[in-house]
Amino acid sequence: MDVQGTVSVGECGLDTSGRTSWRVLQRQKMIFESQVRIAARRGLPIVIHCRGGMRTSEECLTILGRHLMKTHCVHRHCFTGDLAEHRMWSDAPYLPLERGGVGSPFQVEGVVEAIAEDRAISIRLVAEATTRNARGLYQIE
Ligand SMILES: [Zn+2]
Repeated sequence: MDVQGTVSVGECGLDTSGRTSWRVLQRQKMIFESQVRIAARRGLPIVIHCRGGMRTSEECLTILGRHLMKTHCVHRHCFTGDLAEHRMWSDAPYLPLERGGVGSPFQVEGVVEAIAEDRAISIRLVAEATTRNARGLYQIE
């Protein structure tokens, strides 16, 4: 893989949130591992989708730990964690802001508002920080 302008690998990872057979999980792990190796070899940030429970999360972290340095840039856009962690992330359309709703990238404004409220800081400060983080992580201007 050598595509000019590539800024990251992913999203990739493991998802056992549906009915996932052992065989399908083994295939997911094999593909995910090859994607992690690409990120390591190319020195690119990796965007992780990991969903389906603590065991899935542990398997995901094991694969990451096997191939990446602890300092490697990892963007975990979807994962199974506690409530505080969930409030910081969205995985449209499966993880809506409101229970029973449908998530969408158009809800990013609501996510920014929720972060600002949670941290008691301004929306502008959240927007500036998340933009700075994204630019830094993906090395974009
Ligand atoms: Zn995802």
